[in-house]
Amino acid sequence: MAQIILENIEKRFGDVIAVKDFNLVIEDQEFVVFLGPSGCGKTTTLRIIAGLEHPEQGNILIDGQRVNDFRPADRDIAFVFQFYALYPHLRVYDNIAFPLKAVKIAKSDIDSRVRKVADILQITDMLDRKPSVLSGGEMQRVALARAMVRQPKAYLLDEPMANLDAKLRIDTRAEIKRLQHEIGATTVFVTHDQIEAMSLADRIAVMHQGVLQQIGTPHEVYNKPQSLFVAGFMGSPTMNLLEAELYSHQGTTTLELNHTNVHLDLTLEQQARIDKNTSKNSCVFGIRPEHIAAAKEPIGRKISADVHLIEPLGSVNILDLLIGTHADTQEPILLRVRTHPTFKVEVGEKIWLDFDAEQMHLFDKNTEQAIL
Ligand code: ATP
Repeated sequence: MAQIILENIEKRFGDVIAVKDFNLVIEDQEFVVFLGPSGCGKTTTLRIIAGLEHPEQGNILIDGQRVNDFRPADRDIAFVFQFYALYPHLRVYDNIAFPLKAVKIAKSDIDSRVRKVADILQITDMLDRKPSVLSGGEMQRVALARAMVRQPKAYLLDEPMANLDAKLRIDTRAEIKRLQHEIGATTVFVTHDQIEAMSLADRIAVMHQGVLQQIGTPHEVYNKPQSLFVAGFMGSPTMNLLEAELYSHQGTTTLELNHTNVHLDLTLEQQARIDKNTSKNSCVFGIRPEHIAAAKEPIGRKISADVHLIEPLGSVNILDLLIGTHADTQEPILLRVRTHPTFKVEVGEKIWLDFDAEQMHLFDKNTEQAIL
């Protein structure tokens, strides 16, 4: 298996900059997920690693060797794409064996490797069938098996589960994770599904408009977003993001959420971090729905809100709470809060809130970078 390094990669298609100054070290045996909205450059970056696209600028290194000028076949990498192209006239067995036959491996070795990978992916009983009689999920597993049988330096997987139904997606996700651990394969996986990314990745590379926004463990990317984009992209429901102003008076810094009565005093440590990171007053405040505690009584709570909408999701409820009205547009200012289904409230009811001070985020309004 192998370490993959991308150095200052830039790729344009006409006027479109698909990948911009992209730098990343993917460690040997690591599982890295490229995550981002459609068109952010995930597939292009993956294809650059594979050798299917050529960057105008930058270096691709595999195990320390610059491979920019290597053909895809000479990079010793296996890929699985969303649209798995199985050979329709070949049995599943021969589809899986195909890459091994191409490199002239002994027949007995081919047989044992095909059967081992078929066993892991639970497709042994389909080895004699033709692809046309398989379901989408089964074909997907055959495509994965064909990639995994090779034991290449790395696997590149581009939305390999896009065609599967919800349950099969979850099952296959678990299978891919298990396989990756078992084989210890360096893997780069592309998806726009953040749940998939969180559950699979050692590290997630969040991309937006061709730019790598943040690289970190699922925990880091979710809990310590470095930019407004990452904060707004990760999480469902998404983080509450509200415009705010910072005021300092007699050594205390207070945060006021615009067009609301919400004032939050910051701790000395938070003040010091903000002072270090910004000189401006306007910012964007962020807090996740699960980091706001709601209660029916005001005891110890300063923030009140009116229940605007209740979304029961079974194991949790999502409440949309009205905390103010935009002065110019008269648009309601809403806060989403996650509550336990046993917390019974009615639309229009006044409730009381407490923000988890440790889980508050602040972003510079201009640079959109985290300042707290
Ligand atoms: P998706 O999730 O929709 O597959 P993505 O994040 O993988 O999107 P890319 O496919 O890498 O994004 O595309 C990045 C940008 O480059 C997009 O604006 C896309 O339209 C453009 N692009 C990609 N391939 C080409 C091409 N062959 N010719 C012209 N533009 C392209």
